[in-house]
Amino acid sequence: MLSKTLLDIMACSLCKSDIRLEGDKISCTNAECGLVYSVQEDIPNMLIEEAFRPCPACKQQRKWIPEKDTLLCEHCGKSFKYTPNY
Ligand SMILES: [Zn+2]
Ligand SMILES: [Zn+2]
Repeated sequence: MLSKTLLDIMACSLCKSDIRLEGDKISCTNAECGLVYSVQEDIPNMLIEEAFRPCPACKQQRKWIPEKDTLLCEHCGKSFKYTPNY
């Protein structure tokens, strides 16, 4: 189990908002961002490239492709331009 202290000092890699533990995932509390990070063997993977966001079209997970500034949904195949608004 992840320690509460660790979660308290950690922040979203993308928007620097607070994060919260949800089951075996860590999600960003900023609704505009909504990145979801995976936790492997109690170690949070905070890499933006490996984080997921819900797809606006099918509500499934979509993957961040940082080099193209787009978010690709692996479920419906749609890609979205990502424009940070902070
Ligand atoms: Zn975030
Ligand atoms: Zn989709």
